[in-house]
Amino acid sequence: DDVPAAIAADGLAAGYGAVDVLRAIDLAVRPGEVVALLGPNGAGKTTLLRTLAGYLRPTAGEVRLFGDTCTRLPAYRRCRRGVSFLGEERHIFPGLTVRQSLRLVGADHTALHLFPELTGRMRHRAGLLSGGEQQMLALALALARRPRLLLIDELSLGLAPQVRERLLDAVRATADTGVAVLLVEQNAKAVLARADRAHVLRRGELVDERPAAQWLPRLEDLAALYLS
Ligand code: ATP
Repeated sequence: DDVPAAIAADGLAAGYGAVDVLRAIDLAVRPGEVVALLGPNGAGKTTLLRTLAGYLRPTAGEVRLFGDTCTRLPAYRRCRRGVSFLGEERHIFPGLTVRQSLRLVGADHTALHLFPELTGRMRHRAGLLSGGEQQMLALALALARRPRLLLIDELSLGLAPQVRERLLDAVRATADTGVAVLLVEQNAKAVLARADRAHVLRRGELVDERPAAQWLPRLEDLAALYLS
């Protein structure tokens, strides 16, 4: 337990102008861990990820990356320290083929080892791939840069269940190599089946934290208590 958390927030607060969204957020994600961030629409999940990634300045509190304070570091400097942020928009280059996209980030087909179905699509334009393939490519491109911390917002939004499972399995496999993962995902069941822990964010505050396995047999309670 002497290994510092990949990311830790202490008393973090953030918002937009005069609007406070997050209050007193304490959270830590360790290397190799998948932590799910659950909560109803508008709770502040995206805001929390953007603040941790460095796109939004906190109004109070502290953030540490691998033990070092980074509260006021801009996103690009957190990126240099190994943070990768996959936001709600698809992080691909629609006009490039899969091969060109990989080359752009200095990777080759081996970067697709988690998604063998994409190796048959090397000459296809990314923008013409299916939604699921686009997200697989986005994740592969992010992983090609060997991040140490992944912050992921709604990777599988609008995708078929089997595709969602493929993506979440890839996220789990990535964490098993030592990468820390904090992810927001609408489908609580799918994410809890692969997460180590879950935090619930409600009206800008973390109101529950426990091992993911504790919620799995009680998904209805989770929904009734926190997700509406
Ligand atoms: P969802 O699941 O609907 O994306 P969320 O939990 O990710 O919800 P946020 O998107 O972080 O929630 O939004 C939290 C609150 O902040 C909401 O009340 C939202 O209206 C507000 N908000 C989000 N972005 C902005 C912005 N750019 N300017 C002002 N208010 C914003």
